[in-house]
Amino acid sequence: MRPALLNPLFAPVTSLAGVGPKQDKLFRYLLGRDDTPRLVDLLFHLPASVIDRRARPKVREIVPGTVVTIEVTVDRHRPTPPRNPRAPHLVYVSDETGDVVLTYFRAQPGYVEKLLPVGSKRYVSGTAQIYDGMLQITHPDRVVDEAGFAKLSGIDPVYPLTEGLAVGSVRRAVAQALQKLPELPEWISPAVIRRCKFPKVAEALQRVHVPVELTDILPDGPFWSRLAFDELLAGQLALALVRAQLRRPAGDRHAGDGHLRSKIIDALPYALTASQRQATAAIADDLRQPIRMLRLLQGDVGSGKTVVALLAAAAVTEVGKQAALMAPTEILARQHIKTIAPLAERAGLRIAILTGREKGRERRDILARLEAGEIDLLVGTHALIQDDVVFKALALAVVDEQHRFGVRERLALTAKGEAVDVLVLSATPIPRTLVLTYFGDMDVSELREKPAGRQPIDTRAMPNSRLNEVIDGVGRALSAGKRVYWICPLVEESEAEGIEHLTNATQRFESLQERFGDRVGLVHGQMRGAEKDRVMAQFAAGEIGLLVATTVVEVGVDVPAATIMVIENAERFGLAQLHQLRGRIGRGAEASTCLLLYKEPLNDMSKARLKVIRETTDGFRIAEEDLRLRGEGDVLGIRQSGLPGYRIARSEVHGQLITQARDEALRIMKDNPKLEGERGEALRCLLYLFERDEALPLLGAG
Ligand code: ADP
Ligand code: MG
Repeated sequence: MRPALLNPLFAPVTSLAGVGPKQDKLFRYLLGRDDTPRLVDLLFHLPASVIDRRARPKVREIVPGTVVTIEVTVDRHRPTPPRNPRAPHLVYVSDETGDVVLTYFRAQPGYVEKLLPVGSKRYVSGTAQIYDGMLQITHPDRVVDEAGFAKLSGIDPVYPLTEGLAVGSVRRAVAQALQKLPELPEWISPAVIRRCKFPKVAEALQRVHVPVELTDILPDGPFWSRLAFDELLAGQLALALVRAQLRRPAGDRHAGDGHLRSKIIDALPYALTASQRQATAAIADDLRQPIRMLRLLQGDVGSGKTVVALLAAAAVTEVGKQAALMAPTEILARQHIKTIAPLAERAGLRIAILTGREKGRERRDILARLEAGEIDLLVGTHALIQDDVVFKALALAVVDEQHRFGVRERLALTAKGEAVDVLVLSATPIPRTLVLTYFGDMDVSELREKPAGRQPIDTRAMPNSRLNEVIDGVGRALSAGKRVYWICPLVEESEAEGIEHLTNATQRFESLQERFGDRVGLVHGQMRGAEKDRVMAQFAAGEIGLLVATTVVEVGVDVPAATIMVIENAERFGLAQLHQLRGRIGRGAEASTCLLLYKEPLNDMSKARLKVIRETTDGFRIAEEDLRLRGEGDVLGIRQSGLPGYRIARSEVHGQLITQARDEALRIMKDNPKLEGERGEALRCLLYLFERDEALPLLGAG
């Protein structure tokens, strides 16, 4: 259970003064939550920049365009004339060196007079501008008297906002949340505190939200870094705790003598690449160890991960155990079965598929055979983790495209056996820092070479205005018997309204069908599984030559004969996604072409992305560039590249801290694996604060 001392931080934001149902909605949106955010969500929403109000010039010294705080006397008002309600209410103020006009549009009657009584002295803060030859401040941010000035902060935090939510509302809510901050125990070891010169966590939160110096809110400054370290430590410790549960019961080794594996290798129509052989050997070695395997197999699309996974499954079958392969989509699960089936048959491996589509008797039959141990490898989707799926002896869980599954799903699958070994397949090469962040100390195998005989892909970018040329070109390709993917971003009609019109797959399908008739097919995510498979099969068989698709073809789909891909609104896709999509072509012996159609004008970010994707097909390089580019969404010197799933840590800035947090977590696991005593209590508190407590029940009471 969460320590009581954290309860105030998990109170809903609606418990704060001034946060009602309307604000609730806006805060949900801002903080990315489905339900009412808690104070902790607010406190972890860190400023993006600051406004510096410390400049205190005399009027004559004001630099137009800067934020200033001036001390002035109110000389006279010129209220909005009744006949011209759109004209502003002007207030003339001055000091001994000159005059400034304060401008208020649509002010409530009497409001400005009360704020700035004639003859009074006021401190006014805002952005000074020249208008009509006069120095003006339009809608000053602050107007205070002597007493208010004493309390005026020289530096105001500026938060990322959402439409309808004013920065003032966020500041007021955060200020109240800071009041509720309890006395938190120190969970970081004294040595690390000393080495990194970390402040206390409460001080860190205080100073990033109420900065005293401009540098207080810099992500690489001591305050933000302290919070990032806390977040990373919570993540690393949670992973380490899960990992510590992974010892295998003695005698339960999972690798056999290799007889099935050699049969499969003999049945392959090609030779394994060197990196496939290395990965296979590393896995066999893991399976022999007394601790469970936790290995990530990274390889670009088309690098041949499936066969490595199959060989791992064969290894556990050799000792009479079972394996499961879970894929994120039905298309992908069927793709795996298709690749695997002929090889499995040659080796006598009994396989089956289980997705949402296997129902009734068919499903019951599969489940019965699985429980009786008559299925060696079960391939499927989420359907695999349903409660009534029971293995006789599950020993290996292969999870494809891991980043689409949460930790809970992975745990749910491994819970279906004893000491289950885990192999994660990822087609999105993850930079080393991210591997650490997401998987902790996972072992990594990389398939860096492409299987022999692959042709390079010629990638070009062109504006939408050349659409007709592209369609003509596609027509010629179709006549020459080529297979073409046409990818559209998926946007519901209603969603696109008022935002921007994106090409909708259905519309594009219809227009291409008008031109090319029944050589055109369509797949998208809303179609029923059977329907999708039918169209995919037609495309694979060449019955249709042009497949219009949404990103459902992003992962895993394997039609080696497809050599052309058109991607519409390519500027809308992320780098990793473009790379994934393009990986659907260039899989056969023939040269392939990828055309990226974009809408003009391109912003710098999209330009940079399209350039990278044109220049390289190396997924590892693309992943690194992606990280680098996303790190450049730069607001006033602050990097905005969040680690997905992390709110405070930034991949660019805090890369160093990830390693240090990992080391700290390992030390804790060594010295105090049950999280006992005072420090243990503090660490539990940390895990609850960052909601990484899922591993705590595994420890028992502490
Ligand atoms: P991915 O890593 O994207 O999952 P797949 O396992 O689907 O890649 O393999 C892509 C294609 O490459 C498949 O058609 C597979 O049969 C083929 N393939 C795998 N390994 C090799 C190899 N060593 N030599 C030639 N072709 C291979
Ligand atoms: Mg694959």
